[in-house]
Amino acid sequence: MQTQFLLSQNDVPTQWYNVQADLPEPLPPTLHPVTLQPVGPSDLEPIFPMDLILQEVSQERYIDIPQEVREILQLWRPTPLYRAVRLEQALGTPAKIFYKYEGTSPTGSHKPNTSVAQAFYNKIAGVKRLTTETGAGQWGSALAMACNFFGLECKIYMVKVSYQQKPYRRSVMRLFGADVVPSPSDETESGRAILAKDPNSTGSLGIAISEAVEVALKNADTKYSLGSVLNHVLMHQTVIGEEAIKQMDLAGAYPDVVIGCVGGGSNFGGLALPFLRQNLREGAKTRFVAVEPMACPSMTRGVYAFDYGDTAKMAPVVKMDTLGHDFVPPAIHAGGLRYHGVAPLLALLHRLGYIEPRAYHQVPVFDAAALFTRTEGIIPAPESAHAVRAAIDEALDAKEKGEERVILFNLSGHGFLDLGAYDAYLEGRLENYAYPEEMIQRALQSLPQVNL
Ligand SMILES: *Cc1c(COP(=O)(O)O)cnc(C)c1O
Repeated sequence: MQTQFLLSQNDVPTQWYNVQADLPEPLPPTLHPVTLQPVGPSDLEPIFPMDLILQEVSQERYIDIPQEVREILQLWRPTPLYRAVRLEQALGTPAKIFYKYEGTSPTGSHKPNTSVAQAFYNKIAGVKRLTTETGAGQWGSALAMACNFFGLECKIYMVKVSYQQKPYRRSVMRLFGADVVPSPSDETESGRAILAKDPNSTGSLGIAISEAVEVALKNADTKYSLGSVLNHVLMHQTVIGEEAIKQMDLAGAYPDVVIGCVGGGSNFGGLALPFLRQNLREGAKTRFVAVEPMACPSMTRGVYAFDYGDTAKMAPVVKMDTLGHDFVPPAIHAGGLRYHGVAPLLALLHRLGYIEPRAYHQVPVFDAAALFTRTEGIIPAPESAHAVRAAIDEALDAKEKGEERVILFNLSGHGFLDLGAYDAYLEGRLENYAYPEEMIQRALQSLPQVNL
C-alpha cells in the first residue's frame, strides 16, 4: 500500500493564497491600541515593514513568493504527506487517515514557512534587527534561522517558564546567533512593570510580545516579527495546503475533514485555507476542525471581541476569539498553544460557521501522541498531538457509524525537544486542567470598549 505521496522541488508553490479575496464578509478593521480607531498602513510602520503591512490588508487572491524566499523553502519543501495505514489498522477504522508532516523543516515545525518570508521583507526594507517573543521556542528557533540566513540580528523574549523548561530550544536559537532573554525581563518598561507586581511571574506570550514590540517602537533600525495570528502569517503558511491538495490528488482521495491544532492559528490556517477555497469557490464540502487545549480555550470558551494583542496594550487591537489580554495560561506542556487569542481570520470563519473548534485535556492528547509514535514512528510535538487526538476521534467516530471518511491533519512539528513533557506523561505526572470559568470572566472584564 502506498503511504508516501512525494512531490519534487519544482512543486513548491510559486504563490501564496490570500483567503481575504474569497471571504463571505470582510474582516473587521485593525485598531490603534491608544485611540481604538482603525489604523492606516503608516500607523503600523514602526513595527512592520511596508511589504508585510500591504500583505496584511491585501484583497488579491494570489501573491507571488519572491524567488529568494522560495529558494530557502526548497531546502526542505515540499514536505511529505503520508497515509497513516498502521494507525488506521490499530484503530480498526474504515476511515483513511492522511497527515502532512511539517516536522521535516530545519527547526522542526511549520514556523520557518513564514519566518523566512518575514526576514526577507525586513531585509529589503533596510531593517537591521528583528525582535520577537517565543513560547515553546519553536517560533524563536525559526526566526533565528531566518535572520541568520539574511544577515539580520535577532532578539528573542522567551516566556520564562519555557526558558526554564526547554533549555535546548535556547541552544538552537543561540546557535543561529540570536540573543535570548527570559520574559518578563528587566530590559523593558513592560517587563519591569510586570516584575514590580509579581517578581515570580512565569511570563506569558502577551507579556513577551509587549517587550518585543516596545523594543521595536523605541529603535528605528529594529522591527518586530510575529509568528502567528496575523493575516500575512496565515497566508505564508498556505504553501502547506497548496502542496497537500496536489498530494491528496496523487493519493486519489479528497479530505472530508481537515484538522489542525490552534495556538494563534497559523498551521491550521496554512493547511485549511486552500481547502476552504475549494469549499467557497468549487463547492467542496470539507469540514474544518480546529483543536485547542482545555487550559487555553480561546475558540471554545472565549468571546468574539476586539482585544489587545499583548498584555501591555502596545500591539494593535483586532477582533478575535479571546480570553482577554491579561490571560496568563497555566504551564501546560503544549507551550505553543498558550496565546490568549486566535487569528482574526479564523475567528471570523468560526463565527460564519466554517470552522468547528474542539478542546481536549492534555492526558488524552498525550495518549494519542503515544499511539501515533508506536504506529507511525514519529514523535509529535505536544501541540501537534492535539490534532492527532482529533484525527483519531474522527476515525473512531467513522468506525462507530460504519462510514468511510477521509481525514487529513497537520502534524505541525516533531517532539524531539519536548521529551521532558513525554517524561511527565510516562511517569503519570501530567494533570488535566480546564481554565476556571471565573478566571475567564475576570480576564474578559478588561476588554477595550470599542465604539466604531
Ligand atoms: C507554534 C506551534 C503551534 C501553534 O501555533 P499556530 O500558529 O497555531 O500554528 C503548533 N504546532 C507547533 C509544532 C508549533 O511550533
